[in-house]
Amino acid sequence: MMKLDKEAVEKIYQHALREYPEECCGIVTGSSGTQTVYPCKNIQNRLHAEDAERFPRDARTAYVIDRSELDRITAYAEENGHAILAFYHSHPEHEAFFSEEDAAAQTVFGEPEFPDAVHVVVSVMNRKINDLKCYKWDGGTGRFRVVENCA
Ligand SMILES: [Zn+2]
Repeated sequence: MMKLDKEAVEKIYQHALREYPEECCGIVTGSSGTQTVYPCKNIQNRLHAEDAERFPRDARTAYVIDRSELDRITAYAEENGHAILAFYHSHPEHEAFFSEEDAAAQTVFGEPEFPDAVHVVVSVMNRKINDLKCYKWDGGTGRFRVVENCA
């Protein structure tokens, strides 16, 4: 099972604190030996401004990684023989649960696009890191479940 290394966790924490009170989001690629953190732009505010009916939440309670940025990072990882190890995002002023919206964002027609990736959720309370939890797709139950000791 993938374990995030200390450096990767620290980079994710810094990104979460930087974007607070909005959600940060990003991708971790690599192998068990090397991990690279790619902070991504959360385009939720833009989507919300363009179409508030379709995107009722703003970046304080939701995130979207731009498709072209995601494609660029996954293509680069593939070229270099790196796996997509994890996706991460933060929950400002909320616990590190995996919400129904989080599950919906990762699943198309009930199946995740990256079934092997771990989903890292960081809770930030009052500008301080509060918690980190990881979730992974369980094909047997068709749900995301908690991964223990992921960081
Ligand atoms: Zn979330």
